Formats: sequence, structure tokens, C-alpha cells
Amino acid sequence: MTGVLCNDIHSKLNPTRVARVLRPASEAEVVAALKKAAGEGMAVSICGARHAMGGQQFGEGTLLLDLSHLTEWGELDRERGTVEAGAGLKWPELIDGLHARQAGEEKVWSIRQKQTGADDLTLGGSLAANIHGRGLNLCPIIGDVEAFTLVDAAGVPRRCSREENAELFRLAIGGYGCFGVITSVCLRLTPRIKLERLVEVTTIERLMPALEQRMANGCLFGDFQFSIDERSPDFLCRGVLSSYRPVEPEREMPEQREELERHHWEELIRLAHDDRAKVFEVYSSFYLRTHGALYWSDTHQLSVYLDDYHSQLDHECGTEVPASEMISELYVPRDRLVEFMAAAAERLKDGAVPVIYGTVRLIRRDEESFLAWAREDFACVIFNLHTEHSEAGIATAAEAFRALIDLALSFGGSFFLTYHRWARRDQIERAYPRFAEFLRAKLVHDPDGRFQSEWWRHHRELFATP
Ligand SMILES: Cc1cc2nc3c(=O)[nH]c(=O)nc-3n(C[C@H](O)[C@H](O)[C@H](O)COP(=O)(O)OP(=O)(O)OC[C@H]3O[C@@H](n4cnc5c(N)ncnc54)[C@H](O)[C@@H]3O)c2cc1C
Repeated sequence: MTGVLCNDIHSKLNPTRVARVLRPASEAEVVAALKKAAGEGMAVSICGARHAMGGQQFGEGTLLLDLSHLTEWGELDRERGTVEAGAGLKWPELIDGLHARQAGEEKVWSIRQKQTGADDLTLGGSLAANIHGRGLNLCPIIGDVEAFTLVDAAGVPRRCSREENAELFRLAIGGYGCFGVITSVCLRLTPRIKLERLVEVTTIERLMPALEQRMANGCLFGDFQFSIDERSPDFLCRGVLSSYRPVEPEREMPEQREELERHHWEELIRLAHDDRAKVFEVYSSFYLRTHGALYWSDTHQLSVYLDDYHSQLDHECGTEVPASEMISELYVPRDRLVEFMAAAAERLKDGAVPVIYGTVRLIRRDEESFLAWAREDFACVIFNLHTEHSEAGIATAAEAFRALIDLALSFGGSFFLTYHRWARRDQIERAYPRFAEFLRAKLVHDPDGRFQSEWWRHHRELFATP
């Protein structure tokens, strides 16, 4: 069979055979690849680190441009606090590179936010999904972007910012690769500071008042990791609230502190599958021991990601059907969070799709991107659901996710498009009222459909009738 079989890293539920893969390492190589593809009438898909889970980065039969080699650096502007960085750079490379460029300097500029739970995600992929981290007062990453260069369907590089090609700026951030290849990004930075972690075990009812109190006391980051034991009254209710407060720069950073190492994560993941009551005990007691510990504002956002952990787990458990965790992120108005979590617990308590991990975070409204998911200051609820890779297993998980989306919508909320493409059309239309307009704008900017992914093809079909 010709072509190259690709799949996403985390869910492994998107096997797609692309015609071939090219790895351009400069803007000039991207331009040349797109001009050649246009000459051959070839559709192009675009990938970074392959973590999106709805087929956004691959298209059957397409030429796949893997942009993870676009790692060139431009200017670090210490006056404005910005850096020009290649779209293929992953967060650890970006953070390390920023530190190396400012070695020995008193004020060190670094990133404002990145995703939690995985680090090896590219800047291009992060813009394309308009990602967020665990900032308590931040809007999605569009707020951290000054400008970027996008090579469009005609193979022409265009600088996009709020002043220049402003429509493309708003479309391509959160546009899932439908409008072109982002080659380089001018990212807004923030001075790196020391933070103290504050930890308490609390309940969902007390969470919003506690977070408001923490924010009033200056905390900049935080999340609430809730109990996943569906047999306990604590399910989706009791959790570990960690928040991070700036401290005086003179405070000494410890050489060593207690960290969750790879083997701890392996154990926690195994427990999350086998003993969901115990995992909370182990996890919360670790976090409580770190109350008062100091961290840097950039590196505390990094975390351990265990590559391919589920294959190992499947092997150890001797399961016949492989499985992985599918993620979903639901958004609800903050004053409806308690009701939403109670209703979600009711829906998930039968354990048909076990919750393996979940958190609550906050987001500030995004007033800029075309397909904004943060339509208001929402609470964000993340569920990792165990999904068996059988027809029945996938159907059960998809049904659970659709039910959770219905719940979020019933409270005036929304959901993230990056994790799967199981939402119904009516759900997409309610969460993203401009989705049909988004598809039309894609055709205006890319009339020949040069950029195609399974995700875009799916939505083109779904919205084919008016
Ligand atoms: C374990 C895990 C944890 C996660 N945690 C978070 C989180 O905390 N917060 C959050 O917001 N998201 C989170 N995500 C989602 C993740 O941030 C997005 O799926 C992101 O798009 C993945 O980036 P990537 O580099 O892997 O891109 P890919 O998966 O390769 O591509 C994703 C999209 O970006 C497009 N793209 C990639 N590079 C470019 C480029 N150079 N130019 C134009 N388009 C491009 C692709 O076409 C595709 O549409 C998580 C995902 C996983 C698997």
C-alpha cells in the first residue's frame, strides 16, 4: 500500500494514510512545497507535534507538511518583551532557548502560558487551536500573540497582526490549519518570577469563592484536580486546589524539592485505572506536602508526559482491546459550575466510561479570534475518559462526550474543538455560532481547498446543507 500511515499521539484514534510527508525547515521551503503542491493539484495537510485528537493535522491522500523543523529564532526584544520564534518550536525548547539567550541577566523574559499535561506541543499547533494553560486571569493564547507569518494557499508569506491582514490573524488563530502554514510567531512574553504554591483540599461548592479569594490575594495560576472515583460521594466534587502566588524575588529557590517523577506518574496512571479511590489519596497527599514550595512562573507549567503509556498499561493488564484516554474540555459560566459538575457526575457515575483524570481551570473572555471558544469568562472542565478502541467502546465514549456537551450547552457553555469530532451539528452551531461563516471564510481564502484535513472534510460534510 502506498502512502504513509499517521496517527495522533495521545488518543491514537485517527489513523490516516497521507500520500507523503515533507519536513520543511524554513519559510522558503514551505513556499516551495506549497507552490509545487499547487502545480500538482495536491491537497496539503499540516502538522506540528500531532497531539490534536480530531484529525485536524492529517488528511487522507494529502501531502503532509510536518512543520516541527521550523525552529529558527528571530529577535528577542527586551524593551517590548517579545520574541520571534519558529512555529515548530516546542515549549521546552522555547523556554530553554529563552533562558540561554538571557543567561546572567537580572530580568529574564519568558512565556506567559502553555498547555498543562503535555509539553512537546509546537507553537504553530498551539496557535491553530488557540490553546490555554492554567492562568487565572488569562485569555487564550491569542492574547499572547503580537504577530505571525502565514504562508497562504497561493504560497505567499503574509505577516498577520491586529493591524496587518487582521482578518487572517483572527481566523488562523483557532483556525486548525485551514488558512495556511504559520511559519514564525512574535510572542508576547512576561518577566519570569518566583511563585509559591498554595494547596488545599476543598469541594466544588467552595471552589469559585476560594479561587476569587486567591485571585484577590494576587494568585496568577491555579487549578482544581477532582476526585475520579465514581463510587464515592466525592466524585467530581472533592479536589485539590493548587494556586500560585508571586513572592519576593529575594526568596531563595531550593536546589531540590519533592517532584512527581516519571515512576510516580506511571503509578498514578495505573491507580487511576485500577483503584480510583486510592489515586486521589496518593495524589492529594503529594500536593499537600508541596504547600508553600517555590516554583518559577514558566517552568512550573511544564509537566511529565508519558509517551505511549496506554500500550504499556494494556500490555500489563493483558487487555484484549487496546484503549486510550480521550479528552474533552467543557466550558460553563462560573456561576453554573456546581450545577454542571453535579449533572456530569450523575451522567458518568455508572462508570461505563471511567474518568481517568480531570481538572477545573479558569479562562478570560477572548474578544478577538473568529472561532472563539472562550466566549465569556468561563470555568473550564477537563475530562480524560477511558476509551476502548472497539466499535462499541468508541460509540460509548462518543455518546458520553455528546451528553457532556449537551449539559455544558444547557448551562450556556461551550466545548473545545481540538479533542474529537464527535459533536453534532446543532451542538457546534450553539457553541460556535459563527462556524458556518468560518467554513465560508476558509473558501474565500483558500478557494481551491489546498489545505485539507479529516477534521475540515468532516465539517464541510456536516454543514453541506444550509
Ligand atoms: C495530553 C494533552 C494535553 C493537552 N492539554 C491542553 C491544555 O492544557 N490546553 C489546551 O488548550 N490544549 C491542550 N491540549 C490540546 C493541544 O494543545 C492542541 O491539540 C494543539 O493543537 C496540539 O499542538 P500540536 O503541536 O501537537 O499540533 P498538531 O496536533 O500537530 O496540529 C494541531 C492543529 O494545528 C495545526 N497546525 C500545526 N502546526 C501548524 C502550523 N505551523 N501552521 C498552521 N497550522 C498548524 C494543524 O493543522 C492542526 O489543525 C492537550 C492535548 C493533549 C494530547
